[in-house]
Amino acid sequence: YAEQYLARQLELANLRTFTRLPDRDFVLDQAKAADQHAKEGDYWAGRVLAIKDNICTKDMKTTAASGILKDFTSPYDATVVKLLRDARCIIAGKTNMDEFGMGSHSTHSHFGPVQSNSEQHPMSAGGSSGGSALAVATNQCWAALGTDTGGSVRLPAAYNGILGFKPSYGLLSRWGVIAYANSLDTVGIFSASLPATQNIFEKLNQYDPQDPTSLPPSTRARLGKYRPKSLRIGVPLDYNISTLHPAIRRAWMQALKHLAEEGHRLCPVSLPATRHALSAYYVLAPAEASSNLAKYDGVRYGSRAEGIDGTPESVLFAKTRGQGFGAEVQRRILLGAFSLSAQAIDNYFIQAQKVRRLVQQDFDKAFRTPNPLLISSREATGLIKEGVDVLVCPTAPTPTPTLASVREQDPITTYTNDVFTVPASLAGLPALSVPVAFDAHDRDQYPELFEGSKTTWAGLQIIGQYGDDELVLHAAKSFP
Ligand code: GLN
Repeated sequence: YAEQYLARQLELANLRTFTRLPDRDFVLDQAKAADQHAKEGDYWAGRVLAIKDNICTKDMKTTAASGILKDFTSPYDATVVKLLRDARCIIAGKTNMDEFGMGSHSTHSHFGPVQSNSEQHPMSAGGSSGGSALAVATNQCWAALGTDTGGSVRLPAAYNGILGFKPSYGLLSRWGVIAYANSLDTVGIFSASLPATQNIFEKLNQYDPQDPTSLPPSTRARLGKYRPKSLRIGVPLDYNISTLHPAIRRAWMQALKHLAEEGHRLCPVSLPATRHALSAYYVLAPAEASSNLAKYDGVRYGSRAEGIDGTPESVLFAKTRGQGFGAEVQRRILLGAFSLSAQAIDNYFIQAQKVRRLVQQDFDKAFRTPNPLLISSREATGLIKEGVDVLVCPTAPTPTPTLASVREQDPITTYTNDVFTVPASLAGLPALSVPVAFDAHDRDQYPELFEGSKTTWAGLQIIGQYGDDELVLHAAKSFP
């Protein structure tokens, strides 16, 4: 299929799905070499995947869509890329994104904004892994990898009508993934089919000694094996916010009704700390980012600004960082540096850490299985009877917005897109965004949701207890 995907990539070049495409002949040579293995029944041989441009590849530049890394080529492959290549998968392209993963519409890119749909009616591809989601949704590859720090896999999956899976924090290796906010960063999977998502997850779900936050085998051994036939499905009432688009609310209710008809039990759940989660995230993520991005100064890392050699260091740093980073990244660095400063740390950073703990505790109170990270294996016996197996809620508060409306949004409004995705990130939980059709009744009221193929899906999120990744994927089978 490699040839068909490559043809499609050329045909859709105006959408700016990719920051870089690999050499065509190089891809076709690999496809030819994998062909025999594929014929012999090797599931992986010759599968074409796209990789978000903040995940390192040694044969293509890795820019994180930033001017400061525009000339960077990694000397090694990220572990997740290596695992795919070892299985004879083909990496066909690095996908466009929001610079360093900061954004929700893939518009903050050194290479220009990603746009989904046609020139006539451009829509947001979601962000920050918008290129990866769009590549899968438009058949430019079989599947793709992205990263999810606060929703960057789930939101674009919802906007593009495909599956987007963020596994539990620490399961997939981050070795070779350019850090945004280490305590939140995860590698995630885009695909159009549930079995493919499951297979890719299984392939990549391995301990990596090179990533200090990779979950060690001893802890992996006690992760959820629990797989009840009839699920207790939690409906977080706090997620029914006033700004939730009526069509999304209806799609959510329809899906819940369907799940009940399938024999699952619906249980109302309260997650009161959720309403502070977004503010906590936007203190913590920029704080970690400001520290992570300090190394891009034109000396240790990053493309140095032109014509400033021989100037004092402070000028060199300032010019390089001023030219290399885009406006949103600069905003985050300033926010982060402020909230970590002596006068602000107690009121901002420490408070946000406390909220993060409350969000984690809310989830732990809701789930039937105890959090395997907080208990020793011997204690992990009893289930909390009235607890739920998974939570089901919307991925985003609105349907896919147009690019024009996104351009008019101020930064804070853009941040509110992440209101439903950041809680699972703060708690490190597995979450899958699943596309479901809008209710036909909305056809008259919201005809724009039914025009063309791009916007006819609402994204719903299935969230599980830490380590219950398989259960989350299993629950998706019951979706309409
Ligand atoms: N939109 C969020 C942010 O800008 C999430 C990004 C992400 O998950 N990488 O921080």
